Amino acid sequence: MFAECVSALNEAGIPNSTKEVELVFSDVLKLQIPQVYLHFQDALEQEDSERITGIIAERKKRIPLAYLLSKVEFYNVELRINRGVFVPRPETELLVENTISILKDINDLAAGKILELGTGSGAIACALAKDGAAEEIIATDISGEAITNATQNAELNGVEDRISFYQGHWFEPLRDLGIEGEVSIVVSNPPYIRRDDIPGLTPEVKDYDPQIALDGGPDGLKCIREIMSEAPVFLKSGGCLILEIGYDQRHELENLFEGNKHYDDIEFVKDYNGYDRICIFKRV
Ligand code: SAM
Ligand code: GLN
Repeated sequence: MFAECVSALNEAGIPNSTKEVELVFSDVLKLQIPQVYLHFQDALEQEDSERITGIIAERKKRIPLAYLLSKVEFYNVELRINRGVFVPRPETELLVENTISILKDINDLAAGKILELGTGSGAIACALAKDGAAEEIIATDISGEAITNATQNAELNGVEDRISFYQGHWFEPLRDLGIEGEVSIVVSNPPYIRRDDIPGLTPEVKDYDPQIALDGGPDGLKCIREIMSEAPVFLKSGGCLILEIGYDQRHELENLFEGNKHYDDIEFVKDYNGYDRICIFKRV
């Protein structure tokens, strides 16, 4: 049955089909992935095989697996993913790694404040909190569904005491907190896709991720510009703004840096495919 499921997903044009079928079997049979391979030729209970068949049929319609299993692994946490909330991507784990290493560099690992903008499922905030990063993590999102989901994920991972969530436009809900100039790191995976490119994305992304999580305006940089211009108000001197960016946006980010006197350094980090994926600005 395992091999049939892999072929079914291959025929539907789904990449990494073996990995996905491993996750389905592991979830339904409640086995770790290595055990899936030890048992995959065993006869399955009818209930389990029906459940697997059902999930594969839905997945063939290109519904993201994270929604079908209602969960995803991200960095050091397992997250519940509700429909209507952006599914965290593996490349975003780099944002967490870099945030941790910068906090160490500026000696703020256990102290300091982190702001995460556009938290979605809460992936970045929960992963950072679980790694013991910073004294306080504050996260915002414009979507009420995202804030609900992120709050659930903080509770599921036992980090609800470490993160405060606010609904609203980027920094807007933080105006009354009195934390201007106190923040060590502002981190965000903002929407950065050029609006005209959205129809060309895979069905899982264009049909299921919320548009508001993807749409970076006509040139893809609308949200990045907004965040870049307001982050210096909250960052302390020497603090950093860390952004995930599109694979082809490095040059445009360099131009935005040239035009902004509040940052005195810019650095890029490549993802596993060799694209400049993380952009780090240092506050003067
Ligand atoms: N941080 C999550 C992750 O990496 O998986 C979600 C990232 S998703 C690409 C972008 C998020 O930004 C979405 O959850 C979306 O709702 C949120 N967003 C879009 N516009 C926003 C705005 N004006 N203010 C706050 N959040 C916004
Ligand atoms: N990396 C996302 C994709 O798969 C885009 C996310 C974003 O706009 N931040 O297209």
